[in-house]
Amino acid sequence: MNYKYHMPTKVLSGKQCILNNSSLLSEYGKKAMIVTGQNSAKKNGSQDDVISALNSEKISHVIFDKVMSNPTIAVCYEGAAYAKEQGVDFIVAIGGGSPLDAAKVMAILARQDIAEKDLFSGAYDADVLPIIAVPTTAGTGSEVTQYAILTNDSVESKTSVATEHIFPKIAFLDSSYMKDMPVATTVNTAIDALSHALEGMLTVRANLVSNTLAKESMRYFMQCVPALQAANGKTPADAFDETIRENLAQCSLLAGMVIAQTGTTIVHHMGYSLTYFKDIDHGRANGLLLAEYLRLVEKQEAPLADEILGAMSLDTVDELKNILASLLGEKDKLTAEDIDRFSSKPVDAKKLSNCRIKPTQEEIKEMYTTSLL
Ligand code: NAP
Ligand code: ZN
Repeated sequence: MNYKYHMPTKVLSGKQCILNNSSLLSEYGKKAMIVTGQNSAKKNGSQDDVISALNSEKISHVIFDKVMSNPTIAVCYEGAAYAKEQGVDFIVAIGGGSPLDAAKVMAILARQDIAEKDLFSGAYDADVLPIIAVPTTAGTGSEVTQYAILTNDSVESKTSVATEHIFPKIAFLDSSYMKDMPVATTVNTAIDALSHALEGMLTVRANLVSNTLAKESMRYFMQCVPALQAANGKTPADAFDETIRENLAQCSLLAGMVIAQTGTTIVHHMGYSLTYFKDIDHGRANGLLLAEYLRLVEKQEAPLADEILGAMSLDTVDELKNILASLLGEKDKLTAEDIDRFSSKPVDAKKLSNCRIKPTQEEIKEMYTTSLL
């Protein structure tokens, strides 16, 4: 059996894991930059815990809290310039995938002079600021991946910076920071995690370890489906108890470990257009498309589709589609013009070659049409 499994991130999971393991931070230096979004980290306790942990180790800090959802290239250069100016030794990234991803690019740019036109070239040195990740959404798994996804206007899509040098050194996974996450964000990010696990199994790089992690991640997701389905209209606290929050966090972590090995598929590529042009949340975009890609796989490789459905205790693609429909609510609609535009965009060659079943341009159009017209 030939495969590679690489997961250099140390994972600490559990309530108060940052405060209980603050000594781990001292190895990375005397001054940290906290990178986060504008609001949530200040409200959910994560930023306070990080600051207490840094203080207890006598590590000083500065805060860069300007990262927006679907981060821009510009915010990464801005954060990197601030890190350089402040002479920080390492970064603590707190938040959803957006701050975590932006922090990874800042970690590179703070140490390496890379022109914007070369940012996605793939040529990065090992010299980057160490990154500590504190996820506060349960979806992207960015705390355990070597990817940072940025909005890229030059291709009207999203593009990844991918290098093993940006694997976080440590991921502190404390699901209690997620307790007030809005219902829609919880649902969309959960679907992103499902998408990672499921897509991971549909790549050419899927292997024994990644499939084992993917199936366990999907099992966690399925345990949360009844709560996710019943959540609409409830407050976050009423909708999700501690166990569900914990299960969603573990689902996302495992799925992040999957894509760190496998990468994603055409579903993510197609979803990026929905986010870029229609402002549809990343996880939701994947959820709208996922079942139709599995249906295409089923036509060409039925045993693989059956293995995936079996891991979710489902028999048919329609059952998956119905679950996703119940979570997504009213479907977003595209016009025929949108569909022509999105399906004629050049397909990311790396994503396409990563797919076990490589859809044609015509099949991509059909998937958009069936999913969103
Ligand atoms: P996000 O864009 O990081 O955050 C979405 C919203 O949730 C923000 O408004 C944020 O507020 C808020 N939020 C975060 N944590 C919260 C909490 N605990 N309670 C309440 N609100 C909270 O969303 P995301 O889905 O986690 O990340 C999406 C990004 O990750 C996309 O750019 C996607 O392409 C990328 N991604 C990366 C990978 C990877 O491997 N690196 C994989 C998949 C997706 P604040 O702004 O105030 O914090
Ligand atoms: Zn994703």
